[in-house]
Order: sequence, then C-alpha cells, then structure tokens
Amino acid sequence: MSSFKSPISLTSTGGVGSIHRALGEVHVIVGPMFAGKTTALLRRIKSESNNGRNVAMIKSSKDTRYATDSIVTHDGVKFPCWALPDLSSFRQKFGAEAYEKLEVIGIDEAQFFEDLYDFCCEVADHDGKTVIVAGLDGDYLRRSFGSVLDVIPLADSVTKLTARCELCGKRAFFTLRKIEEMQTELIGGADIYMPVCRQHYVNGQAVIEAARNALESRKDKVQSDPHPEAAAFI
Ligand SMILES: [Zn+2]
Repeated sequence: MSSFKSPISLTSTGGVGSIHRALGEVHVIVGPMFAGKTTALLRRIKSESNNGRNVAMIKSSKDTRYATDSIVTHDGVKFPCWALPDLSSFRQKFGAEAYEKLEVIGIDEAQFFEDLYDFCCEVADHDGKTVIVAGLDGDYLRRSFGSVLDVIPLADSVTKLTARCELCGKRAFFTLRKIEEMQTELIGGADIYMPVCRQHYVNGQAVIEAARNALESRKDKVQSDPHPEAAAFI
C-alpha cells in the first residue's frame, strides 16, 4: 500500500454529493457546410420527441434563407423552431412555465450565437436540460467560427461530420467560398460555398487569391490612370 493520501475525496457521499439535482447534457455536432449537421440535429431531436421528451429547436434569426419559423435541411426536411437574435431571450419568449417542462433544446447554426457558452452552462448545469448544438467549427478561412469551439470543454460528446468534396468526391472537411467577398458572416448556400477536401481547399484558396490579386492590381492601374474611360478600350 502506498502512503499517499488524496487530500480531497471526490466521491464523498456528504456535502456536494448529497445534492440530488438532475443534471443535463451538452452534445456538439460540427463540420463544414453540407455535412448534414442540421439533419443529424433534427434526427436526434425527433428521436427524443418520439421518446416522449419535451423538445424545442432554436436557430439564428440571421439566417432567413428558408422559412423563419422552421428549420429546413438542404434536402427539404422541416421542423418548427424559434428564430432568435440571441439565446438569452429564449426563456422569456418561450415562457417560464413552458421552459420548466422543457427537457431537450436543439440549437442550429450555433456559430451565430455569441452567448452560446453561457446558455449551454445555464441549461445543462443549472436547469438540468439536454442541449444539442449544431454549427460550423470553422469559417471559409478555417478559423474558429463564433463560439462553437468554446463549448467543447462543456460537452459530453463532440461529433465532427464530413461532406463530400464537390470537386473529387473524397471526404470534405472544409468550406470553400467561391466568390471574393471578405466578410466572415456571408449567409448563402451552394451558390457561394462548397465543401472541399484538404487538397482542393488549398488549391481553391490559391486560385481565389490569385484572382483577387489580379483584380486589385487592375483596380490600382485604373485609379492611377488620368483617363480611366480610355482604359475601358484597352
Ligand atoms: Zn477534393
């Protein structure tokens, strides 16, 4: 036997262990666009609902591509939802009494919610509910998007889904923006974005950057030209 004694007993039956409060869960689903994140989220919410649990779905009111009062997957499956600008307003809008009875909350397009971390803590740790978060882990430049990655330390499970590369059919981990618009939050579908494998992400970024540089040098040339209308004839 070792003489080592742990200074703190984490399995104590008194104190903290004696508080019997139902605790919730946090599950995170990430991946690039067109990876089926919303479909996976809907499947889990529907299965919870079929098991008799009270469920609610939330999505960002920023995304108005489809209906505002329902979540629609890229393949057309629909589910009613709350479209909100932030998560902190959910409880009040849903109604305190109805909120008490709620057991499972799904959040779609979670990258648009700045208060995601605080909401997940509150819902799972304090209110004893299960929250399932689906969102983009990275933006089109493969930088962390919104607060999605911040909730991973809170999560019971993390699932990274993949799509199919639009150019070669291999597994796609990234989202490539096809057009030259620099803002991070540019909401769109297959007209603006495509899922790509690593090779086609790297190649695609190189092509887009080369096109941008060519455009900018052309702009500079036009601006420095004292007779810009003449440039149109060259
Ligand atoms: Zn590819």
